Amino acid sequence: MPIAENFPEGLKPSGKIMHSDGENFHFMWGPGRSDAEAFSNDEVKAAYKARGEKQVPLGVSGTMVAVDWDSCVADGACIEACPVQVFQWYRTEKDIPAAKVVNQTFEGTGSDVKEERKDYTDKADPIREHDCIWCMACVSVCPPEAIKVDQSNLEHHEKAAGTYTKIEAGENPHAHD
Ligand code: SF4
Repeated sequence: MPIAENFPEGLKPSGKIMHSDGENFHFMWGPGRSDAEAFSNDEVKAAYKARGEKQVPLGVSGTMVAVDWDSCVADGACIEACPVQVFQWYRTEKDIPAAKVVNQTFEGTGSDVKEERKDYTDKADPIREHDCIWCMACVSVCPPEAIKVDQSNLEHHEKAAGTYTKIEAGENPHAHD
C-alpha cells in the first residue's frame, strides 16, 4: 500500500527529527501501519531477523517530502534520483532502531548513495527536506510509491511547528517564509 493519497490527513506529529544546524527539522507522523510493503518484503523481514530487532509500525518521515517508512523497503531509488541530496540513509549516521529516531538530532552526515544502506532495515530520511526543489524525481522512481512530495503541505508543517501565519487575500504567499 503506497503512502496515503491524502497524507497527512488523519495522522498526528509524533515528534521531530532535528538537523544539527539548529534551524531545520522535519516531523514524523503517526500512527504507522503494519499492512504496508515493508512488512511483507522478504529482504526487510530477513534484515530485522538478522539484527534480532522487532519490526514495528513507524509512520511517515517528513511533511512536504513525506516518506512512509512502513512502505519504504530501503530500495534507495529516491536517494539516487534526488539532485539536491535531500535524503540520507539514517542508519549510516546513527545505527538505532527507527522507532527511536523521534526527537533525535542528525548532522546529515549519513550516506546518500543508493547501495550504501546499512541493511534493509535502513530508511531513506528526508533530513534536508528544506532543500527540496520539487522536481518530483523521487516520487516516480520509488518502487512501493512510499513518497509524496507536496509543497502545499508546508501549511501542515508550520501548523505542527506553531509557526503558521494565515495568508490574507492579496498577500505574497511567500512573505512569511
Ligand atoms: S522532489 Fe526532487 S528535490 Fe525534492 S526530494 Fe524528491 S528528488 Fe529531491
